[in-house]
Amino acid sequence: MDIDLVTIGTELLLGFTVDTNSAFAGRTLAEVGVRIARRTSIRDTPEEIRTAVGDALVRSRFVITTGGLGPTRDDVTKKVVADLFGAPLEFQDAIWEELTAKWARIGRKIPDSNRCQAEVPRGAMVLPNPRGTAPGLWLSGPLGEVVMLPGVPSEMRGLLVDQVVPRLAARSGGRAIVSRVLRTTAIPESTLATRLAQVEDSLDPLTLAYLPGLEGVDLRLTAWDMAPADAEPLLRSAAERIREIVGVNGYGEGDDDLAAVLLDRLRAKRWKLAVAESCTGGMVGQRLTDIPGSSEVFLGGVIAYHDNVKVRQLGVSPLTIERRGAVSEETVREMAAGVAAATGAEAAVAVTGIAGPGGGSDAKPVGTVWFGFSVAGRVEAERLGLPGTRADIRGRAAQYALFGIHRRLG
Ligand code: ATP
Ligand code: MG
Repeated sequence: MDIDLVTIGTELLLGFTVDTNSAFAGRTLAEVGVRIARRTSIRDTPEEIRTAVGDALVRSRFVITTGGLGPTRDDVTKKVVADLFGAPLEFQDAIWEELTAKWARIGRKIPDSNRCQAEVPRGAMVLPNPRGTAPGLWLSGPLGEVVMLPGVPSEMRGLLVDQVVPRLAARSGGRAIVSRVLRTTAIPESTLATRLAQVEDSLDPLTLAYLPGLEGVDLRLTAWDMAPADAEPLLRSAAERIREIVGVNGYGEGDDDLAAVLLDRLRAKRWKLAVAESCTGGMVGQRLTDIPGSSEVFLGGVIAYHDNVKVRQLGVSPLTIERRGAVSEETVREMAAGVAAATGAEAAVAVTGIAGPGGGSDAKPVGTVWFGFSVAGRVEAERLGLPGTRADIRGRAAQYALFGIHRRLG
């Protein structure tokens, strides 16, 4: 089933509010096989709402709207949609009594201006909204169906899950859109695509999407409009084939975090981990300590931003820095060996680089980052050229620091 989604609110277009309702609706409806074919965000004026909902009905005959149901906006959405369907608004005593009781529970008398919230287009189904005041409304007619939900995310989510999804699930006959996400890192999207070309043709009826981000590329396998029990084995075998091709670069599934995966692997070996961070300034440590229970594995480290700290705390030779520079293979090796020696950790990682925007040169342009990995006494170094802004470079560097250890655990 294909539907249209219309999110209503000037604040969405101005960018003051991120349209999280759309994302939530897309994910939630997919679970019952309902696909958002098109979504539209519009200002909350009667003209815009009339045009957008009218067009959406012509396209899909089933439209969900969010926003503009509150008393402050004079119920623009409800009035306009009722008009479209030729349904007069009728005052419902039962709703008014419920609203009055809700206000009484917080010790207030309901203002008369809220009376419009008790008005319902003739023939509409009222969807009770225990998380807020304005109920959702489901209107059907010759034009199709419109489900009106409030804009407040918690209310919209509650109504969608409790009231809308079960009714649509009943119509879809148990068919759903089911996805499985494989997480990869340190491998460019184009390389992945080349390697996966051999399986992509055989994935049918599944689809494969590449979703690149700072931490790497997520691969999302999707089964469309199938019973979950039929989709599950297809997704599992496709995921296995892909994981085999992706190899060590595939570190997890769903919302697995590389830091958590790495900590688990080190914990299993009863190893400790330490960091020596220059350009990442503690971001690797933050990624690790974001994970509950990291103290069993992560010892800590040194934020060696200034050369003096690299020398005094990590034992980097001043001559090395003078001759090779702070961003160099020799320096990063000494940083990794230094922090491993200082902490006694079996695994240690060091990062030093040029995050920009200034400080680059022809030999070492912005984005040049050296990584030192000390694993069971053996020190190795790698140089990367990372793209993006200062924040991008630092974020990517922190992720690669974790990956370098992960890969060396065998
Ligand atoms: P009420 O006026 O009773 O709060 P409403 O249905 O009129 O409810 P809006 O006034 O449009 O809803 O929005 C209420 C709140 O929800 C605002 O803070 C708004 O920024 C937020 N909101 C609205 N639409 C969205 C959306 N699509 N995604 C995320 N937040 C939203
Ligand atoms: Mg609004």
